[in-house]
Amino acid sequence: MKRLVFLGPPGSGKGTQAVRLADRCQIPHISTGDLLRAAVAQQTELGIKAKAYMDRGELVPDDLVLGMVKTRLGEPDTASGWILDGFPRNRAQAEALDAMLATLGQACDYALNLEVPDTELIQRLLARGRQDDNEAVIRRRLEVYREQTLPMLAFYESQGKLVAINGHQSMDAVTAALEDAIAV
Ligand code: AMP
Repeated sequence: MKRLVFLGPPGSGKGTQAVRLADRCQIPHISTGDLLRAAVAQQTELGIKAKAYMDRGELVPDDLVLGMVKTRLGEPDTASGWILDGFPRNRAQAEALDAMLATLGQACDYALNLEVPDTELIQRLLARGRQDDNEAVIRRRLEVYREQTLPMLAFYESQGKLVAINGHQSMDAVTAALEDAIAV
């Protein structure tokens, strides 16, 4: 049973690594970015509201994201564990997640943070070519990460759950370091 939160700036490789670990541990990979992009593509009410924030590189309002995560964590495949990727993104979301998990009788085991230097992040994001990967939006996403997500690390550190991994190495080396850290 693994319940993992994946932290790290945009471009740190957390999506790729989260997919690998989910596969290895046979647990669902829950990416709020993927869920939001699917909602945008389907033009749901949530997607229509979220799009403007995503296009600017801003965080989608907490109430929208929390509702979406709550629904997803209520699905039966999460009983054996899960990997959250891209959530929580700020302190309020981290606290809301803890409260949500408490009502489910669950708690997260580890918060895994991938550390990658900024210059490398920008290069990787520009190479990726997603719709929200133009340079101005990338810079804003990194700023939002520094302002809102980075301070949240202290929350997980104080719970003794934070594990920092060097994300500036080969994909396989990062995977190996992660597997080692969570003992799979
Ligand atoms: P990502 O794929 O994780 O880089 O997310 C892409 C975009 O979706 C972000 O820039 C935000 O606009 C939005 N997003 C994803 N996850 C969250 C979250 N937990 N809270 C608020 N906005 C989010």
